[in-house]
Amino acid sequence: MQYISTRDNNLKVTFEQAVKRGLAPNKGLFVPEHYITLPKSFWDNLYGMSLQEIGYQVGRQYVGDEIPDDDFRKLCEDVLSFDIPLVKVKDNIYSLELFHGPTCAFKDVGARFMARCLGYFSRQRNEKTVILVATSGDTGSAVANGFLNVPGVDVIILYPSGKVSEIQEKQLTTNGNNITALEVNGVFDDCQALVKTAFANFDTKDRIKLTSANSINIARLIPQSFYYYYAVSQIKRDDAVICVPSGNFGNITGGILALKSGLKVKHFVAATNANDTVPQYLQSGVYTPKPSVQTISNAMDVGDPSNFERLDMIFGHNCKNFGTTISSYSFTDDATRAKMKETYQQHGYILDPHGAVGMLGIEKQLAGDRDTPGIFLETAHPCKFLDVVQEATGITPPLPETLKSCLNKQKESIKIDNDYKQLEKILADRYL
Ligand SMILES: *Cc1c(COP(=O)(O)O)cnc(C)c1O
Repeated sequence: MQYISTRDNNLKVTFEQAVKRGLAPNKGLFVPEHYITLPKSFWDNLYGMSLQEIGYQVGRQYVGDEIPDDDFRKLCEDVLSFDIPLVKVKDNIYSLELFHGPTCAFKDVGARFMARCLGYFSRQRNEKTVILVATSGDTGSAVANGFLNVPGVDVIILYPSGKVSEIQEKQLTTNGNNITALEVNGVFDDCQALVKTAFANFDTKDRIKLTSANSINIARLIPQSFYYYYAVSQIKRDDAVICVPSGNFGNITGGILALKSGLKVKHFVAATNANDTVPQYLQSGVYTPKPSVQTISNAMDVGDPSNFERLDMIFGHNCKNFGTTISSYSFTDDATRAKMKETYQQHGYILDPHGAVGMLGIEKQLAGDRDTPGIFLETAHPCKFLDVVQEATGITPPLPETLKSCLNKQKESIKIDNDYKQLEKILADRYL
């Protein structure tokens, strides 16, 4: 499989090149040059197939012979070492729980896959890859954890001192091994500026590759298609409607790749919070990005979704095509809180605010339809948004083991000022 850019039809690169570059030239995004095709045996055996087997069979179509089959099978087993169960919430409505990974959010899947692919290529080339990331909290922990103990890769993570929650800080600073946390005396924008300065100025010579673990990396997108097949494997129906709570629309793009490979899903719904750029696009036919607004489902506070460009290309730059496959609705924070409360009181199921937006979306789509099974993606463990969950439901969900164990560990960080010289010294001491 080769990869092309959304902004340049002539450019073609290998999977390895696409993963290492992240962004295509002119800020385009890499997409597979064609949709994958899966053998008949895959479809014949899909119902009941394990997540790891799905990951291997689907993933190898994207990776081709760039990673040998045996290595790739091990890689998939390692990435997908936790379950993604489909849980019934009420009649005909199911939650696909994507939060059983190490940092309790769906981004674990993409981050772990990307980390292991990059690690594989680094080792093959006898290079060391150093990932520099700035984080305001959540995404950074999935990235850092995804690379934990991956040989050939170091991660240096910059976070603003005192500006992340206790649990987020523990997730960033208790990894150890190949993960280093730099606690910056500044705000998130300072962290990001330091990282940009390093990319522009730090000359790593030959054997060290300095790179970012950008969320638009193709290696984060591909594994986000695996669990759509796995949802169908579990529900064993060919007519499900799937609703994805969406921000940058990477998660739902994974679903559309699965659909285009032949997965039988009846329809998709992209549910958003007040950041309604895509619902507006489907109504008006005009894509108008806007500044983001803050909501309680803050991982989806995005006014100009980065993966719109990929979806727009997939749907032939045609709004009507887009709308035939994906419906999109926006929901307020009040509606989200009310859904969390109702779902807990009536069904005993605790939603996080993102999952609640997803549940609103699937219920709206299936209103009056008693036959079609509806699935929404539950993208984070409710504990990650404790204040909102407590306020909406009045209860405190029990902490999962992964979060408990990291809360008991000792924080380890290196404090630096908002001063590039200090970052440069750390990089030089380690890598020159
Ligand atoms: C990132 C994130 C989303 C949004 O996913 P996109 O791929 O950006 O649409 C939804 N929920 C949670 C918890 C997230 O962290």
